[in-house]
Amino acid sequence: MTGMDIFTNFADLEQKKRNIAILGSTGSIGTQALEVISEQSEILAVSVLTANSNSQLLIEQAKKYQPNTVVIADESKFQEVRDALWDDDIKVFAGIDALSEVVELDEIDFVLTALVGYAGLKPTINAIKAKKQIALANKETLVVAGALITKLAEQNAVNIYPVDSEHSAIFQCLVGEFHNPIEKIYLTASGGPFRGFTKDRLLNVTPTQALKHPNWDMGAKITIDSASLMNKGLEVIEAKWLFGLKAEQIEVVVHPQSIIHSIVQFEDGSMKAQMGLPDMKLPIQYALCYPKRVKNEFKRFNFLDYPELTFESADTETFRNLELAYDALHREGNAACILNAANEVVVDAFLKEKVKFMEMPELIEKSLDKIPFIAEPTYDDYVQTDNETRSLIKELI
Ligand code: NDP
Repeated sequence: MTGMDIFTNFADLEQKKRNIAILGSTGSIGTQALEVISEQSEILAVSVLTANSNSQLLIEQAKKYQPNTVVIADESKFQEVRDALWDDDIKVFAGIDALSEVVELDEIDFVLTALVGYAGLKPTINAIKAKKQIALANKETLVVAGALITKLAEQNAVNIYPVDSEHSAIFQCLVGEFHNPIEKIYLTASGGPFRGFTKDRLLNVTPTQALKHPNWDMGAKITIDSASLMNKGLEVIEAKWLFGLKAEQIEVVVHPQSIIHSIVQFEDGSMKAQMGLPDMKLPIQYALCYPKRVKNEFKRFNFLDYPELTFESADTETFRNLELAYDALHREGNAACILNAANEVVVDAFLKEKVKFMEMPELIEKSLDKIPFIAEPTYDDYVQTDNETRSLIKELI
């Protein structure tokens, strides 16, 4: 069975509403997912909401959407959330372990992994083991442990539906084509706020500048990743695991208007692209409602607003992160786990103005060279690699 055959065997969930657990409901993807569920309340329902520390928004969401359970990872906020929801008959848990365990609840059909970073790994593993369908926004999980996650998904007959707009685009192009081999895919990239900048111009760019994405309104970490092209690098690795591709079959093309979300080229040379306005609610809805296309009120695309769709190559000489990601993909083993951990620490440090924009790839490259390589990592190896890399980068900073 190929990685994609599985999507043709989707269990028939259509007789009942799909109960969704949103991990990271207070973030950019999480809040948009709640809008989608609200609009599609005939077929989707909220079962679980989780946040890291934004207790106020979590409480507000819980009161509005009435989930069965909420989890706040930050234990110091437990009392506040429990007191606020006391009269609402909503179970409240706190802590990182609760976050991983809540996904196992019987009533959950789908787990939307909309939390950011490595923290998504454990809950995603548990959700797959509990045979929940996964709508995956948290790309870091596949970057860190793609081999482990895809194997577990296959063993448990769990589908992983991409939420990332590029991967959703590829997936949408593949529906009806699962048995036709892919020659290559083109992942489109907006180029971010610093497209066209020289190395000199990048030397002193600030977090405020980097946080101004031209087309997408996203959480801070992914916005910095977009500015540094690491996001595209992580997406290349994500695509490898989702669609069972080799690095050579994945090409990045800069498309500043973000209208064509990605392209599949088949073995006869035919290319299929998926396009639309940049709005994450569409890929979120597609993942949660698959295989149905459900009517919605999202704004429609108008060709006359976009008389030109343009394409250019990525400047990997200036933005080295994309090459580092390809390098990690070629190295295999725990290399992408090192890349991800190093990136999470340097992005956090950049946001706190402790490292400069151009220092980020340098530090990531050092960690790829220094952290011991493991060819076939186990879950514990990933945990250790993540820890060691974070300590190393903190020392280097
Ligand atoms: P945000 O920063 O906006 O939201 C992150 C969410 O995760 C929040 O609910 C946050 O809680 C929670 N969270 C953060 N850290 C932890 C932690 N350590 N433990 C538990 N929960 C945590 O991120 P985004 O919504 O932008 O991104 C989420 C994921 O989706 C990322 O992997 C990103 O790459 C991916 N993605 C995002 C897109 C977008 O448009 N935003 C597009 C494509 C992919 P709190 O609010 O309490 O801090």
